[in-house]
Amino acid sequence: MKTTRSEEMYKIALELMPGGVNSPVRAFGSVGRKPLFIDHAKGAYIYDVDGNKYIDYVCSWGPGILGHAHPEVIEAVVKACFDGLTFGAPTGKENRLAQLIKDCIPSMEMVRMVNSGTEATMSAIRAARGFTGRDKIIKFKGCYHGHSDGLLVQAGSAALTQSVPDSAGVPASFAEQTLVALFNDKDSVRQLFENNKDQIAALIVEPVAANMGVVLPEEGFLQFLREITEENGTVLIFDEVITGFRLGLGGAQEYYGIKPDMTALGKIVGGGMPMAVYGGRRDIMEKVAPLGKVYQAGTLSGNPIATTAGIKTLELLRDHPEIYPQIEANARKLATAFASRADKYGLKLHINQVGSLMSAFFTDQEVKDYASATSADTKAYADYFGYMLEQGIYVAPSQFEAMFISATHSDADIDRTVEALTR
Ligand SMILES: *Cc1c(COP(=O)(O)O)cnc(C)c1O
Repeated sequence: MKTTRSEEMYKIALELMPGGVNSPVRAFGSVGRKPLFIDHAKGAYIYDVDGNKYIDYVCSWGPGILGHAHPEVIEAVVKACFDGLTFGAPTGKENRLAQLIKDCIPSMEMVRMVNSGTEATMSAIRAARGFTGRDKIIKFKGCYHGHSDGLLVQAGSAALTQSVPDSAGVPASFAEQTLVALFNDKDSVRQLFENNKDQIAALIVEPVAANMGVVLPEEGFLQFLREITEENGTVLIFDEVITGFRLGLGGAQEYYGIKPDMTALGKIVGGGMPMAVYGGRRDIMEKVAPLGKVYQAGTLSGNPIATTAGIKTLELLRDHPEIYPQIEANARKLATAFASRADKYGLKLHINQVGSLMSAFFTDQEVKDYASATSADTKAYADYFGYMLEQGIYVAPSQFEAMFISATHSDADIDRTVEALTR
């Protein structure tokens, strides 16, 4: 078979970058394939360097809620570029973006802009530690908060007693400060608080877990986290890097009606540019330098181009309230199509969906935590991925990533996807 241009580029990339990529999931390893190299994308479609066109349900892993290359966002960005790419000094654009965020998410009384979700969660935790004077944190197995040392901990079966780093290069002494609880398991959280009285600075959670596939919080779980953190003087951090502006303008905290102390944002907030934000209670954020003693800085933070893309994206979402019900309805249509595929072919499929986020797990178990998520048959997922690609539909190259619906997925795109699923 003739080698494709993607294959040629991949071969060159392998010599230049680890695994040929700048972020591991892009390598298509978990579906046993070689990556597609992308030429360009527009609206709901992504085009590879071999001229193939796909309906895109990856949406750059979340940022692309308005679809690719939205003309108003591009126009604003191009215009901003002519005024200079970076100044390392404050601009009015940062005020505008900060105010927009605060209007959408009132718990974010004060914010700080950074360049990646990794930085946002890492810095929120540092602020929480500085504020409480405590060292330990709690995270949940299967929740992803970026790749900072203390958060690359998932722990094995000894989850509740031992904290094992998830990556080489993370000192065990860092990992020890990270306690790991089980998502949707209140007792696992209670036990950690009992065993570590007055030592826990922060509890960080994805209010809807979306990095072990989409896993919804059970009724009362987030409320329980709010109460137990409050009782223990622990800072509750919602990692809304995916859910922020995805489950509505106010994110998961508005959707579920729970007010965290701190929030991390990324992905959509930068409209496709490198931008992330952390923020929350004023008394906590006032600990951040130069006001307070928690140091955190960034040469390109609040960059004028990234803020421009973020402002325009949030304004469009705010001014088009029809978008959220539309993308949610489309996600429901796809969920129904998955269900009928499962029926037709006798597949074991469990579908989790909230708003425009969804996952089809190849398992007969109800998926409500890491253990049930990882019961999924990843080989069956890889087959499904290959089948969809042949149909001109690009879904996440991993069972454990979400499917994202954008405002540019038309009825025709959704119908075509439904048809591929139910054929
Ligand atoms: C993507 C993601 C991050 C990390 O963001 P980066 O910009 O990739 O560093 C953190 N938390 C969640 C929930 C994410 O989905």
